[in-house]
Amino acid sequence: MTQWVSKAVGIDLGTTNSAVAVMNPSDTDTVIHQDATRARTTPSCVWRNPRNGELVVGRKAYARIGSEPEPVTSVKRLMGTGRTVALGGEQVTPPQVSAEILREMKRQIEQDVSGFDSAGTRWLVDRAIVTVPAYFDQPQVEATREAAELAGLGVVDLLHEPTAAASHYCWKAGIRDGTFLVYDLGGGTFDVSVVRCTAGDFRVLGISGNTMLGGDDIDGALAHHLLGLLRADGWQLDLDISGDPEDALRFRRLKSLAEAAKKALTDRTEYMLRDSGTVLDQAGDPVVVDTLVERADLEEAARPFVERTFQYCEEALDRAGKEAGITLADVDRVILAGGSTHLPLVRQLVTERLCAHSRGAEPVYERVDTVVALGAAVRAAAVGGLELHDEERTVRVALRGTAVTTAERATVAGTAQALAPGIDLSGGYVQLTAEDGYEDSADLTPGGGFSFLRVPVTPGAQTLLGIEVFDAAGEPRAQVARAVTHDREAGPLGSPVTSAICAKPILLEVSRSGRRHRRELIPAMRPLPLKAHFTFSHPGDTGTVEFRLFQQSRQIKVITAEVPSSTPAGTTIHVDVEMDAGLLITVRGTIGEHPFDGAVEVPPERELPDAEQVAALHRGFEEAVAYLPTGERTVSNAKMAKAKQGYDSAVAEGDTARAVHEFGQMEELVSSVGRPEADLEPPKHDFDRLIAQCEDANRYLVTRAADLEVPHDAVEMGRAIDVQRGQGERAFAAGDQRSYGEAVSQLHGYLEHLRALTTKVFTKDAPLSDLERAAGLLSFVLERVTELRGLVAAVGTEEHRQTVEDVARRAGALEPVLGQDPARVQQEAAREVRRLEQLETILKGRRRGGEDGSFVPVDRP
Ligand code: ADP
Ligand code: MG
Repeated sequence: MTQWVSKAVGIDLGTTNSAVAVMNPSDTDTVIHQDATRARTTPSCVWRNPRNGELVVGRKAYARIGSEPEPVTSVKRLMGTGRTVALGGEQVTPPQVSAEILREMKRQIEQDVSGFDSAGTRWLVDRAIVTVPAYFDQPQVEATREAAELAGLGVVDLLHEPTAAASHYCWKAGIRDGTFLVYDLGGGTFDVSVVRCTAGDFRVLGISGNTMLGGDDIDGALAHHLLGLLRADGWQLDLDISGDPEDALRFRRLKSLAEAAKKALTDRTEYMLRDSGTVLDQAGDPVVVDTLVERADLEEAARPFVERTFQYCEEALDRAGKEAGITLADVDRVILAGGSTHLPLVRQLVTERLCAHSRGAEPVYERVDTVVALGAAVRAAAVGGLELHDEERTVRVALRGTAVTTAERATVAGTAQALAPGIDLSGGYVQLTAEDGYEDSADLTPGGGFSFLRVPVTPGAQTLLGIEVFDAAGEPRAQVARAVTHDREAGPLGSPVTSAICAKPILLEVSRSGRRHRRELIPAMRPLPLKAHFTFSHPGDTGTVEFRLFQQSRQIKVITAEVPSSTPAGTTIHVDVEMDAGLLITVRGTIGEHPFDGAVEVPPERELPDAEQVAALHRGFEEAVAYLPTGERTVSNAKMAKAKQGYDSAVAEGDTARAVHEFGQMEELVSSVGRPEADLEPPKHDFDRLIAQCEDANRYLVTRAADLEVPHDAVEMGRAIDVQRGQGERAFAAGDQRSYGEAVSQLHGYLEHLRALTTKVFTKDAPLSDLERAAGLLSFVLERVTELRGLVAAVGTEEHRQTVEDVARRAGALEPVLGQDPARVQQEAAREVRRLEQLETILKGRRRGGEDGSFVPVDRP
C-alpha cells in the first residue's frame, strides 16, 4: 500500500535570484535545493529559445544575457503593474513569467523530496509559502499569488522576506522573542525592516529601502573602474552606454566580469581577472583582460552604495520608533540577508554603524543567499503541516503542525476530506494507533476536523502513528501514517506564524455558588499562537465540572471534567489554554490529580440573518409547536419569546456577535421542538440514583473493610463508578441510547456486587445496619429534594415549591436524630419519599424536559 505525502515548501522568488527549500520528513532540519554546480540559488531569468520555442529558466537563461533575443530578468519589479514583457516575440504578463520561475523551483525541490520516499510513502510538492518584500502592495502580492497558482502550487501563505529571515534565525537559535533589524542587500534592491517576534509571532514594525540599489550598482561601479584600466591599456572603449546599444552590450559584458571579480574578493584580498573575447572593443578586437583587482578597488567602488543603505536603516528605525517605541538600542540582532551582504565591507560597516549601538555585537551572517527560502520552509512545515492521501487519493488527511514535538504527549489534529465523489465522511470518525498499543478514536466534526490530545510519544525517539478514517457506517475509507519525533531540545518550530489573530475574545464560563462567571482566556486581537495559564477553585460536591468556552457571546464548546465527588471544595483547578494559528483551541487541565482536556476549532463567523430568515424561522417554529401538548407548547413559547427578546436587544445594541448567537439559540430551539425528544431509558434521574446508590454502598464498605471476608478495593471501585458516570452522562447528552444503556447495565452490575458484599456485612452485624439504612434513606430524601426543586422551578407553582421546602426542612431536622433513633428516622424518611414521589407525578404531567435533562425555567406571573 502506498500513501502520498504532500509537504509545503518555501520559495524565495527574488528579483535577481530565487531559491527553494523544504524541511526534512522529521521536521528537524532544512533541505535547500542545490543544482549540479552546487549552486543554491537560481537566476530569476526566463528565456525562450527562438529555434524551438522552448522555455529556458535559470542559469541557462542567464547565460543568454547580452545576446539576442534577451532573456527576461528582474520581472519582479513589474509584478502588479499591469504591464507586459516580451518573451520570445510574445507579450506575456509578469505573473506568467514568475510562474515559469516557480515551476522551475517546484521541479527542483521535487528532486530532493523524492529522496524522502520510503517503502509505501511517496512525497510530492503541491503547496508552497512564497515570500514577498515587506513593501509589496496588494496588487503586487496578488500578482505573486497568481504566479504561484499558475505554477500549480497551492499557496499556503505569502510571507514577508524579512519575517522569513527572522523566522529562520529564531528557529535555529531556538528562541521565541526578540527584536531584529533585517538588512537585505540583494542584486537590485535594498530592504531594511525592523521585525519584532513575541512568543513566536512576528510583526514588521518599520520598513524602508530602495528598489534601485543593490549588487548591480556595485558591479557597474567596478566595471567603470575596469574600463579605466582597459582604456589605459590601449583598448578602444569610449562607451556611450545610454546612447549606443552596442556600447550598452559591451558594458553589460564587462559588468559580468566585474561581478565575478566581486564574488571572488569575498574571501581573498586580490584577484587576477583573466578573460579574452567576452568583450569586443569598438574596433572589433577581442579584449584581453589580465589585471589584478584588489579588494581595496572593489571597496572604493562599493562604498558609496553601501553608505547609502544606512540612511534607509535610520528611516526604518524611525518608523519602528513611532510604531512601537523601538530604537536601535532595543534591537537584539541585526540579521543579514541577500547575496551582497557577502561583501566584507558591508559586514564591517553594518557592525560599526548598527551593531555597535544595538545589543548584538556582530551581525548574523548565516546562509544569506538562502535564508529567506529557508525561513519560508520552516514556516511552511509549521503552517502547511502535512497532507496525506491514501493510495487511490480518495481521501485527504491534513495534519496540522510539525512532526517534531517537545512534549511527551503530542497533539495530533487535522481534517479529513473526501476527494472522490462516492465517499461521504460526514458522521465518520478517525482511529489513531501508536506503536505501543495506544489506541483512540475521535468523531469527525461537520467540517471534517478531528483532534487527539495527549498522544503518548516515545521520549527522545520517533513514534509511528497510524491514522484510519471511517465513514458514518464504520466503513474504513483511508489509512495513512505519520511519524512524530520527540525532541526536548527542538526549537519553537511550530511558532513562527504571523498573520493569524484572534479577532474575538475567548471566554470561559464557570459556575461559582450557583452564579455564572465568565473569565477572559484569550483577549481579542492577540496574535496567534498563544498560551495562557489560569487557576480556578473547585466548587466541591459534584462529580462533574463543566467548562463552557465562549467566543464573545457564542458558546463554542463544553468541556466536562470528571472528578470523584469527594474532591474537596477549593481544590485548585489548573487550566492551560493554547490557541494555534489555525484557531484550534486546546484546553488541558487538572482538578487535583484528575486531568481533563478538550479541543475546539473556532467555527467561522456567521453573518447576521436578514429579516426574511428571521421570519422563516418563526414560521417554522409556529408549525412545530402547533402539534405539541399544551404544557410543552407553553414552555416552548416562553423559551422562544426569551430568545427572540435577546436577539432583538442584541440587534438594537448593534452587537452582531451576540445577535448571531441568539439567532443560533432560536434555531436550536426550533429543531429541538421539531424532532421528537430522544427518550432514553431509563430516565436520567434513575441513572443519577443508581450512581448515588453505588457510591453510598461503596463508601459504606470502606467503613466495614475489617468485616469483609473478600478484599474490597473501594478506591478502584470509586474510579470504575466515575468512569461509568462519565460515559452515561455523555451518552445521555448525545442521545446515544446504546452507550447510555451500557453504562446503566455496568452500574447495575456494580450495585449488585456491592449489595452482595453489604448484605454479608449486614447479616453479620444487624444492629448497625439500621443506622446505615436510615442514613441512606435520609440522604436519598435530600437528593430528591434537590431534583424536585429544579422541576418545580420549571413547571411548578408556589404551592408545589412550599411542599418541597417543607420536606427539606423536616428531613433536615431528622439528621440530628439519626444516631439516637434510626428506626424513627427510617419511618419518617420513607414517608417523605412517598410525598416527593406524589409531587413528582403531578409535576411530570406539566414537565417539559430540556434537552440535557435539565429543567427549563418558566416565567410565572
Ligand atoms: P535578490 O534577492 O535581489 O534576488 P540575491 O540576494 O540573490 O538577489 O543577491 C544577488 C546579488 O548578490 C548579486 O548582485 C550578486 O552579485 C551578489 N552576490 C552574490 N554573491 C556575492 C559575493 N560573494 N560577494 C558579493 N556579492 C555577491
Ligand atoms: Mg532577496
